[in-house]
Amino acid sequence: MTNTEDALAVCDRAGRTYSRGETAVVALHDATCAIYSGQQIALMGPSGSGKSTLVHLIAGLDNPTVGTVAWPKLGRREDLRPGPIGIVFQAPSLLPPLDVIENVALPLLLRGLDEGVARESAYDSLARLDLLGLAEKLPEELSGGQSQRVAIARVLASRPQLILADEPTGQLDHETANHVITILLQAAVESGAALLINTHDPVVADRLEIRWTMTDGRLTTNHAVKSGRAFS
Ligand code: ADP
Ligand code: MG
Repeated sequence: MTNTEDALAVCDRAGRTYSRGETAVVALHDATCAIYSGQQIALMGPSGSGKSTLVHLIAGLDNPTVGTVAWPKLGRREDLRPGPIGIVFQAPSLLPPLDVIENVALPLLLRGLDEGVARESAYDSLARLDLLGLAEKLPEELSGGQSQRVAIARVLASRPQLILADEPTGQLDHETANHVITILLQAAVESGAALLINTHDPVVADRLEIRWTMTDGRLTTNHAVKSGRAFS
Protein backbone atom coordinates (compact mmCIF):
# COMPACT_ATOMS: atom_id res chain seq x y z
CA MET A 1 0.00 0.00 0.00
CA THR A 2 1.17 3.51 -0.68
CA ASN A 3 0.66 6.74 1.24
CA THR A 4 -1.31 5.22 4.04
CA GLU A 5 -0.41 8.20 6.19
CA ASP A 6 -3.12 10.02 4.19
CA ALA A 7 -5.73 7.36 4.97
CA LEU A 8 -8.65 7.73 7.34
CA ALA A 9 -8.35 4.08 8.35
CA VAL A 10 -5.77 1.42 7.51
CA CYS A 11 -5.80 -2.30 8.20
CA ASP A 12 -2.44 -4.02 7.90
CA ARG A 13 -2.80 -7.81 7.80
CA ALA A 14 -5.56 -7.50 10.37
CA GLY A 15 -7.26 -10.72 11.38
CA ARG A 16 -9.88 -11.70 13.92
CA THR A 17 -10.40 -15.11 15.44
CA TYR A 18 -13.37 -15.78 17.72
CA SER A 19 -13.18 -18.49 20.34
CA ARG A 20 -16.21 -20.72 20.67
CA GLY A 21 -15.56 -23.04 23.58
CA GLU A 22 -12.77 -25.32 22.47
CA THR A 23 -12.91 -24.25 18.81
CA ALA A 24 -11.68 -21.10 17.13
CA VAL A 25 -13.45 -19.43 14.20
CA VAL A 26 -11.21 -17.37 11.95
CA ALA A 27 -13.69 -14.69 10.86
CA LEU A 28 -11.10 -12.51 9.11
CA HIS A 29 -7.74 -13.47 7.59
CA ASP A 30 -4.98 -10.89 7.18
CA ALA A 31 -7.06 -8.02 5.75
CA THR A 32 -5.03 -5.22 4.23
CA CYS A 33 -6.96 -2.15 3.13
CA ALA A 34 -7.14 1.61 3.40
CA ILE A 35 -9.95 4.14 3.19
CA TYR A 36 -9.21 7.64 1.95
CA SER A 37 -11.14 10.86 2.21
CA GLY A 38 -14.12 11.07 -0.14
CA GLN A 39 -14.14 7.41 -1.17
CA GLN A 40 -17.37 5.45 -1.49
CA ILE A 41 -16.82 1.74 -1.04
CA ALA A 42 -19.23 -1.19 -1.20
CA LEU A 43 -18.08 -4.21 0.80
CA MET A 44 -19.84 -7.23 -0.67
CA GLY A 45 -19.88 -10.84 0.37
CA PRO A 46 -22.26 -13.52 1.53
CA SER A 47 -23.66 -13.75 5.02
CA GLY A 48 -21.03 -14.99 7.48
CA SER A 49 -18.10 -14.03 5.25
CA GLY A 50 -16.63 -11.51 7.73
CA LYS A 51 -18.00 -8.12 6.59
CA SER A 52 -19.26 -7.01 10.00
CA THR A 53 -16.07 -8.24 11.64
CA LEU A 54 -14.01 -5.98 9.36
CA VAL A 55 -16.33 -3.01 9.91
CA HIS A 56 -16.13 -3.44 13.69
CA LEU A 57 -12.32 -3.38 13.47
CA ILE A 58 -12.32 -0.28 11.24
CA ALA A 59 -14.78 1.38 13.65
CA GLY A 60 -12.51 0.65 16.59
CA LEU A 61 -15.34 -1.32 18.23
CA ASP A 62 -13.22 -4.47 18.30
CA ASN A 63 -9.51 -5.38 18.24
CA PRO A 64 -7.75 -7.54 15.67
CA THR A 65 -6.25 -10.73 17.08
CA VAL A 66 -3.38 -10.35 14.58
CA GLY A 67 -2.15 -7.39 12.55
CA THR A 68 -3.05 -3.76 13.13
CA VAL A 69 -5.75 -1.16 12.47
CA ALA A 70 -4.83 2.52 12.55
CA TRP A 71 -6.54 5.84 11.84
CA PRO A 72 -3.77 8.13 10.53
CA LYS A 73 -6.09 11.09 9.74
CA LEU A 74 -8.68 10.59 12.46
CA GLY A 75 -6.76 10.69 15.68
CA ARG A 76 -6.80 8.50 18.73
CA ARG A 77 -8.93 5.39 18.87
CA GLU A 78 -10.74 6.54 22.03
CA ASP A 79 -11.92 9.70 20.23
CA LEU A 80 -13.33 7.99 17.13
CA ARG A 81 -16.96 7.57 18.27
CA PRO A 82 -19.02 9.62 18.48
CA GLY A 83 -16.85 11.87 16.38
CA PRO A 84 -14.88 11.23 13.20
CA ILE A 85 -16.38 7.76 12.68
CA GLY A 86 -20.15 7.29 12.47
CA ILE A 87 -21.88 3.93 12.20
CA VAL A 88 -25.28 2.96 10.82
CA PHE A 89 -26.31 -0.56 11.85
CA GLN A 90 -28.68 -2.99 10.18
CA ALA A 91 -30.99 -3.40 13.13
CA PRO A 92 -32.94 -0.46 14.52
CA SER A 93 -30.56 1.28 16.89
CA LEU A 94 -32.64 4.17 18.22
CA LEU A 95 -33.27 4.15 21.96
CA PRO A 96 -37.00 3.42 22.45
CA PRO A 97 -37.72 5.76 25.41
CA LEU A 98 -36.19 8.80 23.72
CA ASP A 99 -37.94 10.78 21.01
CA VAL A 100 -36.23 11.39 17.68
CA ILE A 101 -34.58 14.71 18.57
CA GLU A 102 -33.27 13.24 21.84
CA ASN A 103 -31.91 10.22 19.98
CA VAL A 104 -30.09 12.42 17.48
CA ALA A 105 -28.74 14.73 20.20
CA LEU A 106 -27.58 11.91 22.50
CA PRO A 107 -24.11 11.25 20.98
CA LEU A 108 -23.39 14.97 21.18
CA LEU A 109 -24.40 15.06 24.85
CA LEU A 110 -22.17 12.03 25.47
CA ARG A 111 -19.32 13.99 23.93
CA GLY A 112 -19.93 16.71 26.50
CA LEU A 113 -21.68 19.32 24.36
CA ASP A 114 -23.99 21.75 26.11
CA GLU A 115 -27.62 20.57 25.87
CA GLY A 116 -28.82 23.60 23.90
CA VAL A 117 -25.99 23.28 21.38
CA ALA A 118 -26.59 19.53 21.04
CA ARG A 119 -30.33 20.01 20.37
CA GLU A 120 -29.61 22.76 17.83
CA SER A 121 -27.14 20.52 15.97
CA ALA A 122 -29.65 17.66 16.14
CA TYR A 123 -32.37 19.87 14.60
CA ASP A 124 -29.92 20.97 11.87
CA SER A 125 -29.10 17.39 11.10
CA LEU A 126 -32.79 16.37 10.90
CA ALA A 127 -33.49 19.38 8.69
CA ARG A 128 -30.70 18.36 6.28
CA LEU A 129 -32.44 15.03 5.76
CA ASP A 130 -35.91 16.57 5.62
CA LEU A 131 -36.94 14.86 8.86
CA LEU A 132 -37.99 17.79 11.05
CA GLY A 133 -41.55 16.50 11.05
CA LEU A 134 -40.40 13.44 13.00
CA ALA A 135 -38.53 15.33 15.74
CA GLU A 136 -41.05 14.68 18.53
CA LYS A 137 -41.94 11.13 17.54
CA LEU A 138 -40.91 8.02 19.44
CA PRO A 139 -38.97 5.28 17.57
CA GLU A 140 -41.98 2.92 17.81
CA GLU A 141 -43.99 5.40 15.71
CA LEU A 142 -41.50 5.28 12.81
CA SER A 143 -41.37 3.00 9.78
CA GLY A 144 -38.18 1.02 9.10
CA GLY A 145 -37.07 3.50 6.45
CA GLN A 146 -37.75 6.50 8.72
CA SER A 147 -35.77 4.84 11.55
CA GLN A 148 -32.75 4.35 9.29
CA ARG A 149 -32.97 7.95 8.05
CA VAL A 150 -33.02 9.15 11.68
CA ALA A 151 -30.03 6.88 12.41
CA ILE A 152 -28.23 8.55 9.48
CA ALA A 153 -29.16 12.01 10.85
CA ARG A 154 -27.75 10.95 14.23
CA VAL A 155 -24.46 9.96 12.58
CA LEU A 156 -24.29 13.21 10.59
CA ALA A 157 -24.83 15.31 13.71
CA SER A 158 -21.34 14.30 14.87
CA ARG A 159 -19.87 15.53 11.54
CA PRO A 160 -18.04 12.27 10.79
CA GLN A 161 -15.20 11.99 8.29
CA LEU A 162 -15.91 8.29 7.80
CA ILE A 163 -19.36 6.72 7.78
CA LEU A 164 -19.59 2.94 8.13
CA ALA A 165 -22.94 1.38 7.28
CA ASP A 166 -23.36 -2.32 8.10
CA GLU A 167 -26.14 -3.65 5.84
CA PRO A 168 -28.16 -0.47 6.47
CA THR A 169 -30.96 -1.58 4.16
CA GLY A 170 -31.00 -5.26 5.06
CA GLN A 171 -34.43 -5.02 6.68
CA LEU A 172 -36.06 -2.66 4.19
CA ASP A 173 -38.11 -3.25 1.06
CA HIS A 174 -36.41 -2.51 -2.24
CA GLU A 175 -37.86 0.97 -2.83
CA THR A 176 -37.23 2.17 0.73
CA ALA A 177 -33.73 0.69 0.60
CA ASN A 178 -32.98 2.64 -2.56
CA HIS A 179 -34.19 5.85 -0.94
CA VAL A 180 -32.08 5.28 2.19
CA ILE A 181 -28.98 4.60 0.07
CA THR A 182 -29.63 7.78 -1.91
CA ILE A 183 -29.79 9.75 1.33
CA LEU A 184 -26.64 8.12 2.66
CA LEU A 185 -24.71 8.87 -0.55
CA GLN A 186 -25.93 12.47 -0.68
CA ALA A 187 -25.15 13.00 3.00
CA ALA A 188 -21.65 11.61 2.56
CA VAL A 189 -20.98 13.82 -0.48
CA GLU A 190 -22.40 16.97 1.14
CA SER A 191 -20.50 16.47 4.36
CA GLY A 192 -17.28 15.34 2.61
CA ALA A 193 -17.30 12.02 4.50
CA ALA A 194 -15.94 8.77 3.13
CA LEU A 195 -18.47 5.96 3.11
CA LEU A 196 -18.15 2.19 3.46
CA ILE A 197 -21.36 0.21 3.04
CA ASN A 198 -21.60 -3.50 3.78
CA THR A 199 -24.15 -5.01 1.50
CA HIS A 200 -24.98 -8.16 -0.36
CA ASP A 201 -27.29 -6.25 -2.69
CA PRO A 202 -25.57 -5.73 -6.08
CA VAL A 203 -27.97 -2.86 -6.88
CA VAL A 204 -26.66 -1.00 -3.82
CA ALA A 205 -23.05 -1.89 -4.59
CA ASP A 206 -23.39 -0.64 -8.19
CA ARG A 207 -24.14 2.83 -6.87
CA LEU A 208 -20.75 3.13 -5.16
CA GLU A 209 -17.43 3.89 -6.83
CA ILE A 210 -15.29 1.15 -5.36
CA ARG A 211 -16.07 -2.46 -4.65
CA TRP A 212 -14.37 -4.68 -2.11
CA THR A 213 -15.34 -8.31 -1.72
CA MET A 214 -15.16 -10.68 1.21
CA THR A 215 -15.04 -14.44 0.68
CA ASP A 216 -14.68 -16.75 3.67
CA GLY A 217 -12.91 -14.06 5.69
CA ARG A 218 -10.57 -13.05 2.88
CA LEU A 219 -10.77 -9.48 1.65
CA THR A 220 -10.09 -8.39 -1.94
CA THR A 221 -9.82 -4.64 -2.46
CA ASN A 222 -8.13 -4.22 -5.79
CA HIS A 223 -11.09 -3.73 -8.07
CA ALA A 224 -12.32 -0.20 -8.62
CA VAL A 225 -15.70 -0.42 -10.35
CA LYS A 226 -16.45 3.04 -11.74
CA SER A 227 -13.68 5.35 -10.67
CA GLY A 228 -11.71 6.07 -7.57
CA ARG A 229 -8.24 4.77 -7.01
CA ALA A 230 -7.62 1.10 -6.86
CA PHE A 231 -5.22 -0.11 -4.25
CA SER A 232 -4.28 -3.40 -2.76
P1 ADP B 1 -20.98 -11.07 7.86
O1 ADP B 1 -21.11 -9.71 8.45
O2 ADP B 1 -20.32 -11.09 6.51
O3 ADP B 1 -22.29 -11.79 7.84
P2 ADP B 1 -19.55 -11.70 10.32
O4 ADP B 1 -18.36 -10.82 10.33
O5 ADP B 1 -20.70 -11.32 11.18
O6 ADP B 1 -20.02 -11.95 8.81
O7 ADP B 1 -19.13 -13.17 10.77
C1 ADP B 1 -18.01 -13.85 10.22
C2 ADP B 1 -17.84 -15.20 10.94
O8 ADP B 1 -17.49 -14.98 12.30
C3 ADP B 1 -19.10 -16.05 10.96
O9 ADP B 1 -18.70 -17.39 10.88
C4 ADP B 1 -19.70 -15.76 12.30
O10 ADP B 1 -20.46 -16.84 12.76
C5 ADP B 1 -18.45 -15.56 13.17
N1 ADP B 1 -18.69 -14.62 14.29
C6 ADP B 1 -19.04 -13.32 14.16
N2 ADP B 1 -19.14 -12.74 15.39
C7 ADP B 1 -18.84 -13.73 16.30
C8 ADP B 1 -18.76 -13.77 17.73
N3 ADP B 1 -18.99 -12.68 18.46
N4 ADP B 1 -18.43 -14.95 18.31
C9 ADP B 1 -18.18 -16.04 17.57
N5 ADP B 1 -18.24 -16.06 16.22
C10 ADP B 1 -18.55 -14.93 15.59
MG1 MG C 1 -22.82 -8.72 9.05
